[in-house]
Amino acid sequence: MTATAIHASRILTPEEEISDGVIVVEGGRIAALGHRDEIRIPTGAVDHVATGLTVVPGFVDVHIHGAGGHDFMEATPRALDRITATVARHGTTSLVATTVSADIDETCRSLAGIAQYIRAHEKEANGAEGAAEGVPADRGLAAEILGVHLEGPFISRVRRGAHPSDALATPTLEAFHKLAAAADGLVKILTIAPEIPGALEVIAAAVEARIVVGIGHTDATYEETRAAIQAGARHAVHFYNAMRPFNHRDPGVVGAILTDPEVTAEVIADLIHVSGPAIQVLIGSKGFDTVLLASDGIAATGMPDGNYRLGNFEVNVKDGVARNAEGKLAGSTLTLDRALRNVVALGVPLVDALRMVTVLPARRLGVAGKKGILAVGADADLVALTPDLRVAGVMTRGAGLA
Ligand SMILES: [Zn+2]
Repeated sequence: MTATAIHASRILTPEEEISDGVIVVEGGRIAALGHRDEIRIPTGAVDHVATGLTVVPGFVDVHIHGAGGHDFMEATPRALDRITATVARHGTTSLVATTVSADIDETCRSLAGIAQYIRAHEKEANGAEGAAEGVPADRGLAAEILGVHLEGPFISRVRRGAHPSDALATPTLEAFHKLAAAADGLVKILTIAPEIPGALEVIAAAVEARIVVGIGHTDATYEETRAAIQAGARHAVHFYNAMRPFNHRDPGVVGAILTDPEVTAEVIADLIHVSGPAIQVLIGSKGFDTVLLASDGIAATGMPDGNYRLGNFEVNVKDGVARNAEGKLAGSTLTLDRALRNVVALGVPLVDALRMVTVLPARRLGVAGKKGILAVGADADLVALTPDLRVAGVMTRGAGLA
């Protein structure tokens, strides 16, 4: 198997900074990395020189609905190929395919399509590793789908945002198990409003199934949120958006999340969904270790303004801002490279901002060591950044970065 040796002016793993570094990639994984004096490059390795660039891990998106004109709810191989290829060009190398509230049977059909796609890719990757000649099927540059994020239907009618009201459902174990089974055990995140009757029982079942429970689209009080955390919820979905707002005598869900160090909060850092100072308040309260940047990107991501679909409804995109027919924000056209630049522009140190799109989401999803980090044995998912944090090259599991 041919190895690739990537020579970079700087590597941010991001837990460590290496100047004049080399990363050796073999079979889709990182075989070695370190300062150029420490690394023995295998004979016959193809050199890739990234002079003047910083190589960082590929970004991990915990909340994304689509890109490149397609929505995950379409769930056809063509749609999923298109989405994963589009975001990869912006540095996202793995993601969790996010649904939007729809009829349960219809959602199940989408989940089955996504699960089938993931399983087919797993098989292919395993087959390639086992092959004698070891030539992995070159799928080109594409983000890996790690699983599914169920955003709805167990959300608050009052804080539904753009989710259609007729698609919302009461949380029941029966509905939850039906969705989880349709996804073939690949649900990674469940967004739920903890104040709805039945929610705590579903939260406990999801935690039992090792699903990350995200508090979101919720009108929960401080006490109701505490009860959800007690039941095992450990994540907050697009923090501030579609949540009961903070009040100093009624801190609500926002107050409960800001004050709990165990709970991670994803934020849409497009500076449209949330203002810069509000992001600073979030980071100021929670520190650098529990804030994740998520895109909430929809089909319009990487596409011109116009009309797109999000699940079952139409969204109009003007100046890159996506709204439904009622004029409510309906996802974003944000990519994680832009989110990273926005947060750095707010004064967050680069390494800390990078961790918010790499190590921290990988840890929350239980794939630390494999994704979101440059380390021996990790998947060769990496991004070369220019000094102004533009994406100059991307590699997904050893493919790309030509
Ligand atoms: Zn949402």
